[in-house]
Amino acid sequence: MSAAKKPPVLILLGPPGAGKGTQARMLEEKFGLVQLSTGDLLRGAVAAGTEAGKAAKAVMEAGQLVSDDIVVAVLKDRLADGDTQHGVILDGFPRTTAQAEALDGMLAARGQKINAAISLEVEDEAMVERISGRYTCAACGEGYHDSFKKPAVAGVCDKCGGTEFERRADDTAETVRSRLETYHEQTAPLIAFYAGRGVLKEVEAMGGIAEIAARLAGIAEQAGA
Ligand code: ADP
Ligand code: ZN
Repeated sequence: MSAAKKPPVLILLGPPGAGKGTQARMLEEKFGLVQLSTGDLLRGAVAAGTEAGKAAKAVMEAGQLVSDDIVVAVLKDRLADGDTQHGVILDGFPRTTAQAEALDGMLAARGQKINAAISLEVEDEAMVERISGRYTCAACGEGYHDSFKKPAVAGVCDKCGGTEFERRADDTAETVRSRLETYHEQTAPLIAFYAGRGVLKEVEAMGGIAEIAARLAGIAEQAGA
């Protein structure tokens, strides 16, 4: 590991189902970075019934984007927590050019910049199957999949021993198609945006979880994590 002057800021880009959440959690464990998932933050706001959550709920269930104002405010709040000072992995943010510009401003105010924007390259057709089979441990959030990643003991979380699992309200085949469309229209342009800044890393992400994790670890190390 190389010594970093500044705590690294990594961005994970990719369509729903690309594995952003799974890989962000691997990077958290390996490098002590903190995963900031706007999807998780918004689901938390919906569950807590906050104003942001009330505004976001129906939009999320339709597979569309929550407004930039709300998402930027939620992310900004979370970024202000002390645990983010050793470096972060942004998962699901930014999703629009306006969000990317807001992020630049937030980072500049902290004397930080983006070290790598990692684009997970996958095939759309496979995403519907990946997403409709996925579920998480209700206690610790570890992700599983009906076909690709079952717990070692059926019904018991490998990580924490929990026995309750949950599926997301927006993980239906119908909503996934709409989320994919939204991704291609509004978020995919960020690939060119970050290429233009010289921080884009494209990673082939149709393989196994461990194989992709190893590729990302290499990028994180180069970024100073
Ligand atoms: P996925 O990447 O699997 O689609 P996420 O958990 O990142 O799932 O996001 C779930 C939903 O939350 C999105 O479909 C969208 O409605 C909302 N959301 C999350 N992040 C953002 C964002 N940066 N901007 C706008 N909406 C967002
Ligand atoms: Zn668990």
